[in-house]
Amino acid sequence: QVVTRFAPSPTGFLHIGGARTALFNWLYARGRGGKMLLRIEDTDRERSTTAAIDAIIDGLTWLGLDWDGDVIYQAQRVQRHREAADSLLAQGRAYHCYATPAELEEMRELARKEGRAPRYDGRWRDRDPAEAPAGVKPVIRLKAPQDGQTTLHDAVQGTVTWSNRDLDDLVLLRSDGTPTYMLAVVVDDHDMGVTQIIRGDDHLTNAARQMHIYGALGWEVPSMAHIPLIHGPDGSKLSKRHGALGVDAYREMGFLPSALRNYLLRLGWSQGDREMFTTPEMLEAFDLTGIGRSPSRFDFKKLENLNGHKMREASDAEVTDALVETMPHLPGGAAKAARVDAEMKAKLLAAMPGLKERAKTLTELLDGAGYLFDTRPLALDEKAAAVLEAGGRAHLRELHPRLVALATWSAETTEGVVRAYAEATATKLGQLAQPLRAALTGRTTSPGIFDVLAVLGRGESLGRIADAMT
Ligand code: GLU
Repeated sequence: QVVTRFAPSPTGFLHIGGARTALFNWLYARGRGGKMLLRIEDTDRERSTTAAIDAIIDGLTWLGLDWDGDVIYQAQRVQRHREAADSLLAQGRAYHCYATPAELEEMRELARKEGRAPRYDGRWRDRDPAEAPAGVKPVIRLKAPQDGQTTLHDAVQGTVTWSNRDLDDLVLLRSDGTPTYMLAVVVDDHDMGVTQIIRGDDHLTNAARQMHIYGALGWEVPSMAHIPLIHGPDGSKLSKRHGALGVDAYREMGFLPSALRNYLLRLGWSQGDREMFTTPEMLEAFDLTGIGRSPSRFDFKKLENLNGHKMREASDAEVTDALVETMPHLPGGAAKAARVDAEMKAKLLAAMPGLKERAKTLTELLDGAGYLFDTRPLALDEKAAAVLEAGGRAHLRELHPRLVALATWSAETTEGVVRAYAEATATKLGQLAQPLRAALTGRTTSPGIFDVLAVLGRGESLGRIADAMT
């Protein structure tokens, strides 16, 4: 059985790159009847606040990515990590190292002079611990292979080979008894039964070192896939100056989880040039061979277009639900959300066809729906006020009684009245639509004006028109 895992370190939010890693792990497992596990790498106690952990869980939940079993907390497994280090020590696969900070600094200095990466020189590897200096607390180091090569057959990077001379005897347990990241990851992945690791390629060199630990413990190395990191539109590593990094920010910008999922899938994975995938289609299509080797660039415009597409593709009821659910998170949405009752929801649903056409995000949708939340007398924006000043009022005075006389109120019947008046007075429809729009929405842009009349209903529409006539 396939077992994958997502192993984020809490940073305060679910990073968009982490979200993609999580999605790939989720798709790989779920598409193969496997399991996806969640391990929080909370060994940095300072950063690992409850809020930082909740942010990750929230982000995953919003994105619709679930995991099997309980969340695993790395910090709670320290005892088990120590056991692994001790067993290596007992088998002679690891040793106590008493090198002092000054000695380690000397080694770094030498490396700098020789222009190479720093490397622990193995000075305690075969030394008698009886020679241990008094008062120095040792670390435990792995007896890593000194000759030969370490070769990884990575599903994305291909065959990668390291010379073992470049990989030193890494620390497994610090002098205070805490496990290093390298040891913890290997022990956890093994104990969790992980068969496939999918993670960022910033961990590629770690993979070689982790393979040494697996080897020493006599454990099978899981299959690995190291995916290229996401870059910004300018080709440099994605950073804050390119835009939001946290998934929560994308929710607040009004993106649908389905759109972000689809966008993240395509960011680094492809099947021909197909862009649109529903979740079942993703599960069907996803594989490791489709992951590209070069970093992909984040394209905000593309995400926006994709979101617009998903909104138009979804049913009005689905989008209405998504809007109502997300509203508290949208800019200016909290106050509006407090006013959503069954009646308001019905209005939003009725207005949805017109709103959807013009919006690429839920934020734009909510902005377009503003007229539904407005209360009389409306505050008009400058342009709308100017339209009324420039002769709009006179038209409204003519239209009002004609609309009052309607027996039934709908987009069709109100349009009939306005068209008839336009023809009779040789006025362009636009010249009537503009003052109506100003009166009904307080703005000069809105969904189709007859839809607005229909959704607002007779009483509210006539009231707003009357307000604007004076
Ligand atoms: N906690 C690591 C990170 O957030 C991931 C470790 C792993 O996937 O092996 O980068």
